[in-house]
Amino acid sequence: MAEPQRIVIVGTGLAGASAASALRDRGYDGKITMFGTERHRPYELPALSKDVLLGKAAEPAWVHEPGFYSDNEIELLLGVSVLDLRPGDHTIVDSDGAVRSYDRLLLATGSRPRVLPGAQGHVLRTLDDSLALRSALCEGRHVVIVGAGWIGCEVASAARSHGCRVTVVDPLAEPLVRVLGAEMGAMFRGLHEEHGVEFELGTGVASFSPSGVRLDNGTELLPDVTVLAVGATPRLELAEAAGLELASGGVAVDALLRTSAPDVFAAGDIAAAQDHPRHGDRIRVEHWANAKDQGTHVAGSLLGMDEPYVKSPYFFTDQYDLGMEYRGLAGPDDELVVRGDVAAREFIAFWLRGGRLRAAMNVNVWDHGTALKALVDAQATVTPEQLKESDLGALV
Ligand SMILES: Cc1cc2nc3c(=O)[nH]c(=O)nc-3n(C[C@H](O)[C@H](O)[C@H](O)COP(=O)(O)OP(=O)(O)OC[C@H]3O[C@@H](n4cnc5c(N)ncnc54)[C@H](O)[C@@H]3O)c2cc1C
Repeated sequence: MAEPQRIVIVGTGLAGASAASALRDRGYDGKITMFGTERHRPYELPALSKDVLLGKAAEPAWVHEPGFYSDNEIELLLGVSVLDLRPGDHTIVDSDGAVRSYDRLLLATGSRPRVLPGAQGHVLRTLDDSLALRSALCEGRHVVIVGAGWIGCEVASAARSHGCRVTVVDPLAEPLVRVLGAEMGAMFRGLHEEHGVEFELGTGVASFSPSGVRLDNGTELLPDVTVLAVGATPRLELAEAAGLELASGGVAVDALLRTSAPDVFAAGDIAAAQDHPRHGDRIRVEHWANAKDQGTHVAGSLLGMDEPYVKSPYFFTDQYDLGMEYRGLAGPDDELVVRGDVAAREFIAFWLRGGRLRAAMNVNVWDHGTALKALVDAQATVTPEQLKESDLGALV
C-alpha cells in the first residue's frame, strides 16, 4: 500500500486527535485534515463529569496545546461537520459544501447521549453540556438523575458535593448492575446512600412533563434539575449512509481497525473490532483508554502497518472518595471473587469464567496495577483462593 498523501480524520474527540499526533510521531509528513462539529479544540471527556462538574477545574484536559495543530501542520476545521462520505470516489462533503478527496480516512465520530421519548433535561457529553449542568447544580436544588450507570453515578456525586438533594432513578435493581453485577452494584449504591443520595430502583420513567417526572411505580418527582444519563449511542449516520458494514452497534472493523470500505478506518467509541485475541469476535468499547489507544494505533494502520490492535479494555471512575480502575471485560454472571475489605471500600474484585480471569477492579487500592494488567491480559488460570491470598505478582 503506497504511503497516503491526504488523510482526513472525521471527529475531533480523543480518538481522532490521538490519531493525528501519532501520524506525525510516526513521521508521516503528508496532509492531515481534521473535521470537528464542536468549536472547541480536542479535549478529553472524563473531567466533564468529575472535576469540571465539581467546580475543581475550569476546563477539561485538552488533548494538545493550542499551538500543536498549526505547529504540526494539521488542518483543524472546528465547527465543520462531514455530511457525506463517498468511499467509491474517496471524497467527503463538509457542512460548508466543500468536496474534499482523501487517500485514507479515519472515522472517529464517537457517541451522542441517548434520549428517552418526550424527555426534557440535561445531558452530558460535551464541555458545553458540562458547564451548563454545573451552573444548574446549586445548593438546595432537587436533582433527578435518570440512569444509574457511570455518568449517572458521577453526576450524583458531583451534585451532592454542591449540596443538592439527589434522586437517582433506574429500572434495574442496582446501579451499574449490567457491568458489575448485583453485589458490586450494591456496593456503589451503599456509597451513594452514605452520601445522602436517594434511589428509585426497579422502576423506570413512565412520562416526563415540563414540571416533573412520573415513574412506573406511580411516584411523581418534581425536580429543579433533571439529568438524562441513559447511555450513549454511537454516531453511525455517516458510516451507515456510506454503506459500511455495521456490527455490535458500531462500525465493523477488523483487527487493524479497517472498515469494510477501502481506505476507511474507524476508532474509538464507534469501532466494533473483530478478532480481539482475548475478548472474542467483536468488541466495542466506550472508554477513554480505548479512544486514546485505538486512535494512536490506527495511525499505523492508516500508514499501511500490519499490526493488530490487542489492548484489553481499561476504565476508571472517581466518586466521592472512591477511586477505581477496571481492567478486562466480564459479564455480570461471571464468578465474583473479592480480595480485601468491601465495607471499607478497599478491595480488588475479580471475575472468573471457567477458571480464567476475565476482569479485575481495584477500588482504592493502587499498588497492584502492573500485576492486575498482566493477569487480565493473560486471562490467567487461577483459583479464587489464589486471588484472595497469594502475592498477585507471583501469580503472573
Ligand atoms: C461525561 C463523560 C465522562 C466520561 N468519563 C470516563 C471515565 O471516567 N473513564 C473512561 O474510561 N471513559 C469515560 N468516558 C468515556 C470516554 O471519554 C469516551 O469513550 C471517549 O472519549 C470516546 O472518544 P471518541 O473520540 O471515540 O469520541 P468522542 O469523544 O465522542 O468524539 C467524537 C467527536 O466527533 C465529532 N463528530 C461526530 N460526527 C461528526 C461529523 N460528522 N463531522 C465532524 N465531527 C463529528 C463529535 O462532535 C465529537 O467531538 C466518559 C464520557 C463522558 C461523556
